[in-house]
Amino acid sequence: MLKSIVLSFRFLIILLTISLINVPLKSHASADTVSAIGQYDESNVFAKILRKEIPATVIFESAHVLAFEDIHPVKPVHILVIPKGKYRSILDFSEKASDIEITQLIKALATIAKKMNIAQSGFSIMNNSGHDGGQTVPHLHFHLLGGEKVSWEQSLRHQKKDTGN
Ligand code: 5GP
Repeated sequence: MLKSIVLSFRFLIILLTISLINVPLKSHASADTVSAIGQYDESNVFAKILRKEIPATVIFESAHVLAFEDIHPVKPVHILVIPKGKYRSILDFSEKASDIEITQLIKALATIAKKMNIAQSGFSIMNNSGHDGGQTVPHLHFHLLGGEKVSWEQSLRHQKKDTGN
């Protein structure tokens, strides 16, 4: 009788330990995705970077574009390129942005690739839109990835899991 109580107690301790270890791992691996449509959320992390409320390593800036290093890089070069305007995704950007905003964003991608010395070796530009796309920050952003081979068949999320970020 006493033996089975001790065994059950041990089992409970093991279960408790596993669940405690699992909580931070789970919440880190599966960041919440966001919808690509809807109202602009002023509290998103890139809006805070634009308002200089939180720091970022800025790589490039123009009247309508800001580019900075991703906080969890998945490649040696991993830059986030964003419009300064309040656009949640490529959907409202393509509908509402002015020609100059669109042009500056596209040109910035090429300028930054040259600046980061990956024009010759090559690079990938990724945009995640909405839940199925794996978008986690509701402010339009392009991932500029390079410095080593980027496999476009892999989603960015899988690359993140592979690197443990
Ligand atoms: P998404 O998953 O929406 O395509 O990409 C969001 C990206 O923003 C992720 O790669 C993530 O690492 C990056 N990120 C999230 N929070 C911050 C932050 O506070 N600063 C910077 N520089 N990047 C961030």
